[in-house]
Amino acid sequence: MKNASREQGTAPVLVAGAGGFLGGHLVRALVDDGYKVRAVDHKAIDEWHQVHEAAENLRLDLSEKPVCHEAVDGTSQLYNFAADMGGMGFIENNKALCMLSVLINTHLLMAARDHQLERYFYASSACVYAADKQATSAGRPLREGDAYPAMPEDGYGWEKLFGERMCHHFLEDFALQTRVARFHNVYGPLGTWHGGREKAPAAICRKIAEASLSGHREIEVWGDGKQTRSFTYIDDSIEGTLRLMRSDERDPLNIGSEELVTIDELVDIVEDIAGIRVQRHYVLDAPQGVRGRNSDNTLIRKKLGWAPSTPLALGLERTYRWIYDQLASNADQVA
Ligand code: NAD
Repeated sequence: MKNASREQGTAPVLVAGAGGFLGGHLVRALVDDGYKVRAVDHKAIDEWHQVHEAAENLRLDLSEKPVCHEAVDGTSQLYNFAADMGGMGFIENNKALCMLSVLINTHLLMAARDHQLERYFYASSACVYAADKQATSAGRPLREGDAYPAMPEDGYGWEKLFGERMCHHFLEDFALQTRVARFHNVYGPLGTWHGGREKAPAAICRKIAEASLSGHREIEVWGDGKQTRSFTYIDDSIEGTLRLMRSDERDPLNIGSEELVTIDELVDIVEDIAGIRVQRHYVLDAPQGVRGRNSDNTLIRKKLGWAPSTPLALGLERTYRWIYDQLASNADQVA
């Protein structure tokens, strides 16, 4: 099914989930690099985080198998960032919806195989790691092998681990060149920052920006503030994606920061950026996920000669400024 344009190297690259946070940034990077891009999402195009005029922008539901064939037809490579997902508040309360994303990856893999795509990228997650390796705040950083024996995050993490296995077997059995990244908590401008699907960095930036604008210097913090995470800046995530896609690495790799902080330390940094102090009310029964999670980047350094490096304070400064501006100009949209 190879078509003429692909053989001439002018076939577009497909970005699935292009209306989302990572997808929107990836489309911009690919367009800037001179690629033709077909950008696809099931949201109305005026709801996409970014719309790039240089790309072919399509509204399609990629959970449907015939639609995946339509989307893939004529393309050369595929980046799958399409999924029904969000922060802990969303994934702990929507496990079935998260697992239904299996339809997207399965149908896209089948279409990619049938159309003989050169490469297929799958956005997996640190939520695949086994729970017992993340039981303490100061636990050992997660190596790729720590996903097994499997006990991932219920719902979302199981779907991601199954998606990884599907990619592995499509490579083994059908020679589809799959590449898999395990992203750790990506944050940055032009991401989800309100509405219930936002993650901790955006939520904390929004709450402190609200406190700054309103003068009401109190915020809610989910959990006791002592749980730990590392947060990966969007530019590092996109650079890692492109490097991994172009590499020969067939097994999943962490794309994550190794800069571990407690949630309280995250709040401290955002307070410094905003130039205010807030009173923290800890909500102990709010969704929190695992107690501690950090990325071990030994393998990505070895395989790609690269690892994420943006300091958290720098990435948060850019994120806070962007969210502050959104809030100041869209106060009526905040849920
Ligand atoms: P996002 O929610 O901003 O983007 C996902 C996009 O997929 C959305 O725009 C959504 O409309 C689209 N989508 C959902 N169902 C679809 C369907 N049936 N057909 C077409 N499009 C559909 O999420 P994100 O933060 O950009 O994450 C992108 C990918 O990376 C996801 O697979 C996610 O699980 C993974 N990931 C993200 C993070 C993170 O911290 N953001 C961490 C680990 C893994």
